[in-house]
Amino acid sequence: MEKKQKLIQYTSYTSIDELGKDDQWLLNEARSQTSLSYAPYSNYHVAAVARMDSGEIIHGTNQENASFPVGLCAERVLLAAVSSVCPGESIDTLAVSYDNHRDGSDHPVAPCGICRQSLAEFEDRMKHPVRLILSGMKGEVFVFESAKSLLPFAFEGTELR
Ligand SMILES: [Zn+2]
Repeated sequence: MEKKQKLIQYTSYTSIDELGKDDQWLLNEARSQTSLSYAPYSNYHVAAVARMDSGEIIHGTNQENASFPVGLCAERVLLAAVSSVCPGESIDTLAVSYDNHRDGSDHPVAPCGICRQSLAEFEDRMKHPVRLILSGMKGEVFVFESAKSLLPFAFEGTELR
């Protein structure tokens, strides 16, 4: 028997002010785009904004539905948009923010499990890490050099070959 461990690394910043200018802009864009989400049931408004390798900016927001399972997270709306608008292009950095109208939205929140799986496969497809910036509308900011690090035991397409 052998006990093993996997470690993930990320950088924590006390506020957006500690980020570089490009990252500040991207996170501010994500914060501002939360107003475009459709979340009448949860009041939990999420936006994901990607800076592509080309510099192009692509947006996604969560889209809820009265039939709850029909709803889509901002991250997967974003990935679908990226694959449609910029096919074959890698994401350099992805900023995700949220505005919970019932709370202060003052801490980083990580993508749900389904979105982690989607982001992991996107990295595999592009053979390129997706740098991830997570923060609420204010407060601490987490930066991960690879979105896949959030899903250490991802199920991978190679299993199906
Ligand atoms: Zn999700």
